[in-house]
Amino acid sequence: EPAKSEVAAMYLENRQLCPSFSRRYIIRDELGSGGFGFVCSALQTGYKNVPGVEVAVKFIFKDRISECDYAMLEGEPVESYVLSRVQHPNIIGFKDLFEDDEFFYLVQELHGDPWAPGHTLEVPDTIQNPALPPTPAPHPVPIIHAPQTPGSAFVFSPVHSVDWSKLSPFSGEAGKRPNMARRASYDLFECVEHQRFSEEQSRNIFRQIVDAVSYLHNKGIYHRDLKDENIVIDRNLCVKIIDFGSAVIEDRSYPPVLYDHFRGTMSYAAAEVLNGRHYHAGPADVWSLGIILGIILTGESPFPNTTWAQEGRIKIKRQVPGGAFDLMQKCLCTDPRRRATIEQVERHPWLRGMLAHRGSIC
Ligand code: ADP
Ligand code: MG
Ligand code: MG
Repeated sequence: EPAKSEVAAMYLENRQLCPSFSRRYIIRDELGSGGFGFVCSALQTGYKNVPGVEVAVKFIFKDRISECDYAMLEGEPVESYVLSRVQHPNIIGFKDLFEDDEFFYLVQELHGDPWAPGHTLEVPDTIQNPALPPTPAPHPVPIIHAPQTPGSAFVFSPVHSVDWSKLSPFSGEAGKRPNMARRASYDLFECVEHQRFSEEQSRNIFRQIVDAVSYLHNKGIYHRDLKDENIVIDRNLCVKIIDFGSAVIEDRSYPPVLYDHFRGTMSYAAAEVLNGRHYHAGPADVWSLGIILGIILTGESPFPNTTWAQEGRIKIKRQVPGGAFDLMQKCLCTDPRRRATIEQVERHPWLRGMLAHRGSIC
């Protein structure tokens, strides 16, 4: 297993990238990697006198996803298919899609605070950049806009600090830069390792996630891999869902599909999945939300292992607000038919900020 931050180097060093991609973008550093590819930050070069902007590029191995059910849709990876058709403040923005014989290149908005305060992004002169017209989006992006939940600010402790000298294979500039306190973006997984949230902050973060999942479910889109690593967060506690590689789209005029194959993460898998049964994607997403809520509140999964999860035996080491615990329990109901739906999660009094609550939803 190569170390994190070396996967991109292994595949991209001395490799010719798709020309239309490299005319516009310069690869910076690695943000993460997984079974189907890896993600790098990249600098989208500016047009004449217009500053560049940093983006996240996910390199997806074509041969690996083509072997998976539901991973491709109309000739493109399901993740770009979905991302290019949705628009929500808590879902990562789609920018572009490229391909060569080995990879799809999914260019997304980079979420987080990639540059230390006081540093502006310079457009390097390492590539000649004629005033290119902006790339048209490959699909029309229709869709409804949802209101943004304001975040309450807090301070991160630094997690990453990048050694610029290691980046020279990717960018002519990198080797020459001082080793300034540059930070890659954070996902919620990295964040909870360093940060405890107050009840108010937890509610704020969870509400944004629920907003996005509700938006998706209303369109018949199910993420199927909701977890802290697939949620990116910035210093204002604004969160965005990423990684739609396991997503499915269903026609809501038909009954929900029963799936027999799980492509998510075991520690977020619903009881019915762990018990080897076929499952519906909506209730499985809500279960994952319950795990995420537990992690936001306590820093740890509410289940010490999968046996406890199968039985729905929640164990938390830290006191949590009663309302939040109630909501978590309703998401983690082992019977998917009695589990809260996304509408019920949205309407839960704790999420709506009503302290004294009556009644039950599950
Ligand atoms: P995988 O399918 O391999 O899990 P992801 O799409 O989840 O790939 O990306 C891997 C990691 O890269 C994420 O957990 C996150 O830390 C980082 N990352 C991915 N996309 C972005 C983005 N748009 N903005 C910031 N960080 C990102
Ligand atoms: Mg992921
Ligand atoms: Mg994935």
